[in-house]
Amino acid sequence: MQLTATHINYYHVCHRKLWLFANGINMEHTSDTVYDGKLLHETSYPQRAERYTEIEMSAMEGGIQLNGKIDFYDAKAKIIHEIKRSDKMEDAHAWQVKYYIWLLALNDVAGAKGIIEYPGLRERQEVIFTEADEASLKKAVAKIIELIHNDVCPPNIHAKICKSCSYYELCYIAE
Ligand code: SF4
Repeated sequence: MQLTATHINYYHVCHRKLWLFANGINMEHTSDTVYDGKLLHETSYPQRAERYTEIEMSAMEGGIQLNGKIDFYDAKAKIIHEIKRSDKMEDAHAWQVKYYIWLLALNDVAGAKGIIEYPGLRERQEVIFTEADEASLKKAVAKIIELIHNDVCPPNIHAKICKSCSYYELCYIAE
């Protein structure tokens, strides 16, 4: 079993979204929001790829393989730069970055931190990692495994974020 930052992010956004994604139902290719996000990454800071490194990491935790890919990593300062369009899912973004910091620590790179940048809002948020965060991530990994192996898909959450979710039609079309 392998998990990625997407599982961690979706776990903090909506358990139904996590379940659908983990069970192979992927609508992201049809989503304008996802396309928009990719474009944001490519166009916001064109000079970034020259300054920062893209890294891929993995580690084993409790028999689960954890994988992660950081697009913009400043290896000298040990800072992960994550770009997002909107701060609507701030909490999930922060956990995604904490997951990367944890993965770095599991690969013997201790003391990294993160910066989430919202270029459209001209805002940035610093992300630090504590021992309590590590404990929470371990619990989240166990909970994610339990959730995605459940035969029953969790219910709709009827939240504001549903409107911009790639699963919106699938979740609400029959209602
Ligand atoms: S549309 Fe709403 S309920 Fe459905 S997966 Fe997305 S966030 Fe969850």
